Amino acid sequence: MKNNEGILLVLSGPSGAGKGTICKRLQKEIPIEYSVSATTRAPRVGEVHGKDYFFLNKETFEKKIRENEFLEWARVYDNYYGTPIDYVQGVLAQGKDCILEIDPQGAKQVKKKKPDAVYVFILPPSMQEQERRLTQRGTEKMYEIEKRISSAQEEISALEYYDYVVVNDEVSKAVEKVKAIIIAEKCKVQRHHCYL
Ligand code: 5GP
Repeated sequence: MKNNEGILLVLSGPSGAGKGTICKRLQKEIPIEYSVSATTRAPRVGEVHGKDYFFLNKETFEKKIRENEFLEWARVYDNYYGTPIDYVQGVLAQGKDCILEIDPQGAKQVKKKKPDAVYVFILPPSMQEQERRLTQRGTEKMYEIEKRISSAQEEISALEYYDYVVVNDEVSKAVEKVKAIIIAEKCKVQRHHCYL
């Protein structure tokens, strides 16, 4: 753990848990950088290349895998998703904190490379609420919603790899909890080598 490096916050959780909303709120409320992932999935209405994701075709993504341009990458719901390594390393080296919003397969890979990162799992208050949120946001077709719901149980079984769990029953409370986690992590003795 280096004294002057920023905190890498890894957020995961089932689709519909509200990770995206929590990330957006955190960026508004505290100084933290968001790592924009690359994906081969099609953009949803309103999504912007370079802001929500870097939308790449399969060939370009696979070339980047071969050239080790990702800190981690995974196939999630039939598409590739990955974290560009240079951006994350650059942010942390400047002493800034950085959020990754990635699935548990990706989080496991990051944990091997960055054991000092902080791993937070966001849960919806119930399966019924998860389904309601996914249906209400209307960004996926019905079969995609079903795929996301059926993956939820498998994703939750990855909970043991995480440091914290936050149940997102109310967004503002969930955001306060994540902020409290960051504050506590910054106070850890291991992050204050200069006094040791
Ligand atoms: P969505 O298609 O809803 O934006 O994201 C689907 C899933 O992919 C979510 O669980 C999200 O956290 C995950 N995801 C997004 N970006 C990445 C990434 O860079 N790496 C990995 N492993 N998962 C990602």
